[in-house]
Amino acid sequence: MKIKWFYRCAGCGATYEIAPGRYLCDVCATTQQPERPLAGILEVEWEGTPEPGATPLPVAGAWLPSVPVGNTPLWAPERLRRELAAPGLWLKDDTCNPSGSFKDRASWLVAGFARQHGVQEIVLASTGNAASSMAAVGAAAGLRVKVFLPASAPVAKRIQVLQYGAALIPVDGTYDQSFDLSLEYSQRTGSLSRNTAYNPLTIEGKKTVAYEIVADLEQAGAVTPDHVFVPVGDGVILAGVYRGFENLLRLGRIARMPTVWACQAAGSSAIARALASGRSGAEAFDDPRSSNTVADSIAVDVPRNGLHALAKLQRYGGQAVTVSDSEILAAQKTLAAGSGLFAEPSSSAAFAAWLKVRERIAPEQQCVVLITGSGLKDIKSAAQGLGLDT
Ligand SMILES: *Cc1c(COP(=O)(O)O)cnc(C)c1O
Repeated sequence: MKIKWFYRCAGCGATYEIAPGRYLCDVCATTQQPERPLAGILEVEWEGTPEPGATPLPVAGAWLPSVPVGNTPLWAPERLRRELAAPGLWLKDDTCNPSGSFKDRASWLVAGFARQHGVQEIVLASTGNAASSMAAVGAAAGLRVKVFLPASAPVAKRIQVLQYGAALIPVDGTYDQSFDLSLEYSQRTGSLSRNTAYNPLTIEGKKTVAYEIVADLEQAGAVTPDHVFVPVGDGVILAGVYRGFENLLRLGRIARMPTVWACQAAGSSAIARALASGRSGAEAFDDPRSSNTVADSIAVDVPRNGLHALAKLQRYGGQAVTVSDSEILAAQKTLAAGSGLFAEPSSSAAFAAWLKVRERIAPEQQCVVLITGSGLKDIKSAAQGLGLDT
């Protein structure tokens, strides 16, 4: 079956060809203000009828690297369910991805796209996981990868990047500064940017998780998920989750949009604050603050996909919840000791958020918590949670 793929601006609806060098909407990008989320985010759209049961993607399977990304376990933590009287709790374990994080879903699609178009080099900025992920998937695909990484990134993530053979440019500054430096580099050299949100395929790659959750819950005899808890920094995983469910609604594979919870650290809560402000558009992000949280993967000053993520939350009645660093570290231990799943602080924030709001949710409702990264990626914070020095 022939499907026509294209980009559509999430703001004004303008359409564009999917091609290397196309990142944002030309019209909406002109409204970009400094220190604000990206304007002109593009979504992937299609015309035609996809194969029944398949996950439609804009890159043909033959180009996608053979490294096993996605199809991660969705499982019921029986002991936690019992001890917390939470029969509807599910963990979606994306620590099982090749590089140990959810980011592999985006890297995989971007790598396939690069191969399809004969692009040799991919460049990106990262707080750590996007870098180690692109390095891993790039190694599998035979692509050159260059990453701009804040010098403060956890050591395990830096070592992963180097083991996978990518070029690492340490940035003596924040993730936000790394983002700008990497954009300059890709604009100067023409290499493909995998910067999260900026490259529309990062959002598209992350939608696969929604397809898997729905298929796995069906198989377990449950219906559509009622609630999905997503750790949020730049808001790309959140948007990817929504995109997947939007696709599934369009395909008639689910009947309604689940409630998506944007889970943020109190010290990096731009999207939660924007939602609470009741405003929309760039005005909702009028008050940028420096991030400060133990959860490095969700520490951002300006959420790159903030406008797009906020619009989705507002459109579908999504919720936001913030948790303190001590709640995050306590939740990390509760999850590890109660289920056997050791999650990094960002993912522990999603579990902490579920712990915080679960009394507002009827116990028989299906709650899926996205566990996006392995606890082994940031031993220092995990040690801090135990009161140990490293
Ligand atoms: C990047 C990341 C997040 C947050 O994703 P955003 O798209 O930035 O909101 C959450 N958890 C882990 C492990 C990550 O690496």
